[in-house]
Amino acid sequence: MRDVAPLKNLTPTELETWVQEAGQPVYRAKQLLKWIYGRDVENFQAMTDLSKDFRAWLTRKAHVSCLRRESVVTDVDGTRKLLFRLWDGECIESVLINEGARLTLCISSQVGCAYGCRFCLTGQSGWRRDLSAGEIVDQVCGARRELGPEERLTNLVFMGMGEPLANFHQVVKAIEILTADLGLNFSTRKITLSTVGLVPEIERLSRTVPVKLAVSLHAADSDTRSRLMPINNRYPLEQLLEVCYRLPLPPRQRITFEYLLIDGVNDSPAAARQLARLLKGFRAKINLIPFNEYPGGLYRRPPSIRIAEFQQILQEKHFTATVRQSRGAGIMAACGQLTHSHQASSASSD
Ligand code: SF4
Repeated sequence: MRDVAPLKNLTPTELETWVQEAGQPVYRAKQLLKWIYGRDVENFQAMTDLSKDFRAWLTRKAHVSCLRRESVVTDVDGTRKLLFRLWDGECIESVLINEGARLTLCISSQVGCAYGCRFCLTGQSGWRRDLSAGEIVDQVCGARRELGPEERLTNLVFMGMGEPLANFHQVVKAIEILTADLGLNFSTRKITLSTVGLVPEIERLSRTVPVKLAVSLHAADSDTRSRLMPINNRYPLEQLLEVCYRLPLPPRQRITFEYLLIDGVNDSPAAARQLARLLKGFRAKINLIPFNEYPGGLYRRPPSIRIAEFQQILQEKHFTATVRQSRGAGIMAACGQLTHSHQASSASSD
């Protein structure tokens, strides 16, 4: 482990304390934040409004960046998968997705994942470790460097590798940095956190930071859900929906329910009608995600006609139900396809 302070791990308030403990006036924290996030400078010697002595001290005692960008792979649809190397040699992936006026970064919260959802490549490789707040935030800084002069990140989604609510403390700290004026200055309305359904943490999150929530349902009955997602044995569908129903949502905000459509597993008209019954009365939108096939995977994408029928049943019951267009499938960057394996992603790097 490093013996120098990783400054991107600190919230603005923590940075103020750290600076004061170093015997410096509190405004130094503001200067550091402007350099680190406003100007994307990592070298303390380039921070010219800091005294020479303080810069030398910072060089010995702290560092700014946690990640090294190893490769970028671009799909024909413009989706870019970024591979980052962490200080201990582990790798994580983030995905930049262009959708009209929106440019979304999908970020990872853990190396691997412990939840073992049957359809997910990340889950198959198991959990290796949690990311620090700095490693989460640094994915955004790293992605910004890949943007063209006309591009600007508009949205962030915690939908990459890992279950963000299983790394609660670091994820919440990262959100504090991402939304701070002198941090990366994102609105909480532009940040969506996707969860497999950790009931106590969903409640805790709603009391902590007002980001948008996306809940992975993927089945309309508990038996099917347990087969797809072992977490359903700990927090069954009914318990999950009950907590979602009670969440205090800001005006005009809705919960997104994610529903992966898998051929012959959960894509029948009966399942669509059951889903409509389950979600009756929710302020919700339903995001239907046709399964992205990958070599060796157990499951198949349903035929287009069945996807359309599923959507239509929900719409006839007055739900907002959209079908998410598959982005990045050609570079294994689509939902559920991220892995920690460098080999898996470096074949066509730039
Ligand atoms: S879908 Fe999410 S929670 Fe499930 S195994 Fe994959 S990364 Fe983990």
